[in-house]
Amino acid sequence: MDQRGSSEHCDPSATAPGLRRTLLAWWDVNGRKDPALKPWMFTKDGRWPEPNEELSVLQCWIAEVMLQQTQLSVVLPYWQRWMEAFPSLEALAAASLQKVRLQWQGLGYYSRARRLHEAAQMVLDQSWPRDLEGWLALPGIGRTTAGGILSSAFNAAEPILDGNVRRVLARLKAHPSPPARDQALFWQVSEALLDRRRPRDFNQALMDLGATVCTPRHPNCRCCPWIGDCAAYAAGDPTRWPVTDDRKPLPFQVIGVGVVLNAGGDVLIDQRLEEGLLGGLWEFPGGKQEEGEAISECIARELREELSIEVRVGEELICIDHAYSHKKLRFVVHLCTWLSGDPQPLASQQVRWVRPSDLADYPFPAANARIIEALLGKFNDSDQAGASRSAA
Ligand code: SF4
Repeated sequence: MDQRGSSEHCDPSATAPGLRRTLLAWWDVNGRKDPALKPWMFTKDGRWPEPNEELSVLQCWIAEVMLQQTQLSVVLPYWQRWMEAFPSLEALAAASLQKVRLQWQGLGYYSRARRLHEAAQMVLDQSWPRDLEGWLALPGIGRTTAGGILSSAFNAAEPILDGNVRRVLARLKAHPSPPARDQALFWQVSEALLDRRRPRDFNQALMDLGATVCTPRHPNCRCCPWIGDCAAYAAGDPTRWPVTDDRKPLPFQVIGVGVVLNAGGDVLIDQRLEEGLLGGLWEFPGGKQEEGEAISECIARELREELSIEVRVGEELICIDHAYSHKKLRFVVHLCTWLSGDPQPLASQQVRWVRPSDLADYPFPAANARIIEALLGKFNDSDQAGASRSAA
């Protein structure tokens, strides 16, 4: 079926009352209303809130920011640990950025942690914003996060448009182009559909539908309350929507990394600049392998250029493949012995020699956490080998 034609199968604003009714009736029975799954959505005494009841803004805010790029099942343990570490706005605002980043370690998109910390300090002297503009003025808050917080905490009539919702609406309309190109239209549809008497429940219902029924690869249309109105279902193969741009293969790059040890057994780490995907996190130094360059030459060159030190590149410690949303990297990590030069932060915020056992005090990206594991494992093996030799 021609996709452009199928987009006219239904007009959600014209059919909004029926879509609202059927979605909420489905959600009342099948919604994810489990306090163990979304604790921030429940009252202190463990109930789903009545329309006139408000929820903890702090808890909803942290959850919505964590959910921006991450699935609910991954977010939950992070959210629980976070609320134990920072149970109040004051505790979060007063914490060091390093402590905040450590709580975030492993969740990805690390600028979110820095922005939460900044926003906590901004909100400290005011009351919580109660409208869209107030939330959008805070760092790290876009329209769907603001809508999620306002509808969850205050039952305010604000629409949302996260990835799940975009997918459901794109299928409902069999929208003929990638949703990202028609954001304004998708916002209009989400707003037109919103149930103004039960906005909190409606937004949760939309998200639950996308997460449990209208899933990316295997939509379970037979269990969907919108099956009779859905243009993608009528077209026969809902997984053709959302329409995507042709994807180019992700660029691939080899990164040479040096785990540099000095004579005292300390290891050298540096803190990345604040800007960028992993801004402010710590890492082992290294950089991109150039064409025709051996990995040992790459590591020696990078450490010379970025830290002004000379090293002897030793054995390989570990090789890690890691995929980001926009590129694939292979980290080839070698143990190195420091020879000369006082390390300078020429391409980082700061450099530091630390005891390997203290590495857990520093927030690292996921790939570096595997390097630490390999390094500590190597030390343990050496200790055990030494102990066996002594015993013999
Ligand atoms: S009928 Fe199928 S494709 Fe359409 S909204 Fe429901 S689950 Fe998604």
